[in-house]
Amino acid sequence: MKDQPRIHLGSLLRTSDDAHAEGELDHLQYLQGKTPQTLQFAEPAPYEVNVNSLGGDEMYLQGHFSPTLVTECARCLRDVQVPLDIQLGTLMRYEPSAEEPYLEEAESGEEVLVFGNPDLDLSAYLAESTLLATPLTVLHAPDCKGLCQVCGHDLNEGPCEHSAQVPIEEIDEELGIPEGSSHAKQNPFAGLSKLDLPDE
Ligand SMILES: [Zn+2]
Ligand SMILES: [Zn+2]
Repeated sequence: MKDQPRIHLGSLLRTSDDAHAEGELDHLQYLQGKTPQTLQFAEPAPYEVNVNSLGGDEMYLQGHFSPTLVTECARCLRDVQVPLDIQLGTLMRYEPSAEEPYLEEAESGEEVLVFGNPDLDLSAYLAESTLLATPLTVLHAPDCKGLCQVCGHDLNEGPCEHSAQVPIEEIDEELGIPEGSSHAKQNPFAGLSKLDLPDE
């Protein structure tokens, strides 16, 4: 277990000294709404964060975070490791009344990380940055063949008994072959085209 990613901003708030934090995380725990969530990383994820005072209660955070997520291939469902290299950069504002740190959109459109505890836990911020950087769909290889829709066989490991013959026969049994369309039997896709018709 690694510690939470914390940065101590008390002295920055008092003297405008820069603050710095770095470390490694094997997971992140954060709240989504009120529900605790955990992001697990495949290997220790290094982070480094610097915060500079902009005067008053405002400051700027910059740094980087390199987590490796484990997710499923969208086609064959095997585990895929997704290494991310995230550049961090955000305005920050100290507001003693803020119980939990949260992101707010400034009038300029920029996001501001608002926090009330000078011993700032960066878990939620790093988790949000990670989720934003995560691609929506991941393939374990660009040409992944996926799973057989009949038996679930992983077609990357070779064909199964269903790969050669699309289950035309099943479709024919369900929909039947219309009278007077004997050529439909010759054309293996004639049965499939009927699937597009709405009320047959
Ligand atoms: Zn795959
Ligand atoms: Zn199959």
